[in-house]
Amino acid sequence: MRILVSNDDGYQAPGLAALVNALRAIGEVTVVAPDRDRSGASNSLTLGRPLRVVEHDNGFYSVDGTPTDCVHVALFGLLDEEPDVVVSGINAGANLGDDVIYSGTVAAAMEGRFLGLPSVAVSLVGEEPRRYDVAAGYAAQLTASLATLAMPAGTLLNVNVPGNSEPGPIRAELTRLGQRHKAEPVIKDTDPRGRTIYWIGATGPELDAGAGTDFDAVRRGLVSVTVVSTDLTCAQDTTAVNDWLLGLERP
Ligand code: MN
Repeated sequence: MRILVSNDDGYQAPGLAALVNALRAIGEVTVVAPDRDRSGASNSLTLGRPLRVVEHDNGFYSVDGTPTDCVHVALFGLLDEEPDVVVSGINAGANLGDDVIYSGTVAAAMEGRFLGLPSVAVSLVGEEPRRYDVAAGYAAQLTASLATLAMPAGTLLNVNVPGNSEPGPIRAELTRLGQRHKAEPVIKDTDPRGRTIYWIGATGPELDAGAGTDFDAVRRGLVSVTVVSTDLTCAQDTTAVNDWLLGLERP
């Protein structure tokens, strides 16, 4: 199995090293990752300038762009052979609920949607301890069996592993994305030249975190696995919108 690995924390991140270490046991690994921390980059593509790729002594490629740039360049120009799967991570911190909208970790996996197999985003939940080795082992186990999994087209697996997971059997739960309250206020301050600056604040606390959500699974010490669709069309009943549109038609 050919595995393309990326992340959003940058090519020097410890979570990436652990993931690559584990995945090398199950396949042929190529790393194409941002040259710095691009957390929060979401699915952005760099269009206004060219991208430069550097190959490092350990064989990792870094790109002066976003996680999406990395996977896009890898799939459509850099790699001689198309990979079977994209695995992104392991992110330093959770990607739960609304985080997925902003996450570069999830975005890198999403860019692998053109491949036949589902792509996987892996994040480590919590501050300390950070058992990247345990999460990486689980990611490798999961990735090795992806070929036997029938998933709908255009979907990816968003995996969140509790950071304090112990070596040994890991229990996972299939979840849906929960929701957070609105974010904390931006931090307003003044720069040394007297100009006002704003610093994006912390994510909001949990709002929808009940049974069945990703928040609930990791709180109970389980690995959360959510099937995320790249089709953003609303799955709820939209009859009211259709009625509203028809009402706008001129006679
Ligand atoms: Mn990150």
